[in-house]
Amino acid sequence: MTRRTLLIGAGAGVLGVILSSCTPEPAPTPTPTRTPTPKPTGAAISPSAFARSAWTTDQYSLGAASFTPAGTQQSARDALATPVDDRLFFAGEATDTDAPGTIDAALRSGDRVADEVIGVADEGERIAVVGAGLAGAAATSRLVAAGHEVMVFEARDRVGGRIHSVVDDERWPVPAQLGGWLLSPDDTEMAALLARLDIRSSEVGSALWRSADGDVEPVSAEPVQAAIAAGQEQPTDVALADTLAEAGVDLEDPGIVALLAAVTASAGSDPDEASTWFPPVAQPVDLRAPLGDLGVVFDDLLDGAKVGLSSPVSRVAYDEAGVSLGMATGESLSFDRVVITVPLGVLQGTGLQFAPALPFSHRGAIAELGMGRIETVWMRFDESPFAATSAAAAEEGDASADQTDADADADADADADASPTVWHVVGGDALIRTWFDLTPATGENIVVGVVGGAAAEEFAGLDDQQALDAAIGSLAPFLAVP
Ligand SMILES: Cc1cc2nc3c(=O)[nH]c(=O)nc-3n(C[C@H](O)[C@H](O)[C@H](O)COP(=O)(O)OP(=O)(O)OC[C@H]3O[C@@H](n4cnc5c(N)ncnc54)[C@H](O)[C@@H]3O)c2cc1C
Repeated sequence: MTRRTLLIGAGAGVLGVILSSCTPEPAPTPTPTRTPTPKPTGAAISPSAFARSAWTTDQYSLGAASFTPAGTQQSARDALATPVDDRLFFAGEATDTDAPGTIDAALRSGDRVADEVIGVADEGERIAVVGAGLAGAAATSRLVAAGHEVMVFEARDRVGGRIHSVVDDERWPVPAQLGGWLLSPDDTEMAALLARLDIRSSEVGSALWRSADGDVEPVSAEPVQAAIAAGQEQPTDVALADTLAEAGVDLEDPGIVALLAAVTASAGSDPDEASTWFPPVAQPVDLRAPLGDLGVVFDDLLDGAKVGLSSPVSRVAYDEAGVSLGMATGESLSFDRVVITVPLGVLQGTGLQFAPALPFSHRGAIAELGMGRIETVWMRFDESPFAATSAAAAEEGDASADQTDADADADADADADASPTVWHVVGGDALIRTWFDLTPATGENIVVGVVGGAAAEEFAGLDDQQALDAAIGSLAPFLAVP
């Protein structure tokens, strides 16, 4: 089944198609992330393709990934995940306690919520799913398999939510991933989906740390990990930045700044807001980078369901008899139960109202948890403007080299020469300090910048030309002519 046949009614009167009641057509809502074509920079370094995200300001995410602020318990996530009157069911990465803010979490939450619904629903009940991201798609897959009639409402004009593969063969030899894409070894469910759907991925290889003065020693995460371990023994939870300062970690040191920028780019929370008891991962290892269209995953999971695109839900009314969904267009539709998978940022906003209001425990959890900011920029160059080569990076070696060697027999992709390389920008005033060089894995000059926390918020506020200038400026230590 192709995506076109699956997504009936994309901006074309989906409700009228699906339901017997005649309803006005939902207005199409263009997806806010985009692939602009800015002008060449003043520095005369000009990518042949450029794509950037702005999840922080995107009204259907209002952030990138949930995080646990200092002083907040993970039990807030359990509270958020608790069904209300067996009518409202909650999923999404923010409801997961094991690895919130990740692909793994979203998938697991979708599986969990489907089991909860199946446990109470009678045969043939009509179930609505709000949101066609990974959690909504995973839930839908299970509910359809269990024989329920499932209708998915997605506000955007595409499925995938915070996973967004930009497929454009002319500009991108591999799809540009503007949202979540990197997998850790714990992402077994997603890894199995990629394998089944024949989506290629590559192990992320060695790291190169570079300042304006040249290569610097790789920065060890060990002092950060040791400080976190000590902080977790304390009677109260404090912000990660305080824990690190207390342990003598110099937060002004350029190497530590680059290391923490990478941590923030992965978690979305700055060290002065993140919890020490439930901290971000200090140095992810054994990451894999999918190099194919992740949209295929959604086609697969949503197969058999009715999916309405450009169909934002603005109101959820519920009582012991059922649920009524109010659409942004003014119409309302009745279901037996609803699975709500919208991001935490949306729940924290005013775009989705509940009648009656959610229980205090849910509202408390929504207010307590934090929505992190992560932004991404992809650039492809016809001619490489970079001084660094992946071969040089591989020779440098780093902590991940052992992992690569250990996996070499089992994994054909583990050849360091063919693996994307991580670049860390040390010192200076770079806005984006964490980069992935995909050249070894793609044969094309493609670099991907990832930025988190307050810097991501700043990046999201830039126009496309400013974003391009910030990206090129951040890469100065790696350019052949800085
Ligand atoms: C830039 C970036 C980088 C990331 N990097 C990684 C990474 O490398 N590895 C990793 O594991 N994770 C990463 N993540 C996190 C990961 O992408 C998310 O945890 C995951 O995709 C969330 O899935 P979800 O289904 O919970 O939410 P979503 O994907 O956000 O799905 C929710 C859906 O609800 C829809 N919606 C919102 N409001 C409404 C409404 N009113 N009515 C109807 N529909 C609505 C949204 O449009 C969306 O499609 C990253 C995220 C971002 C943004």
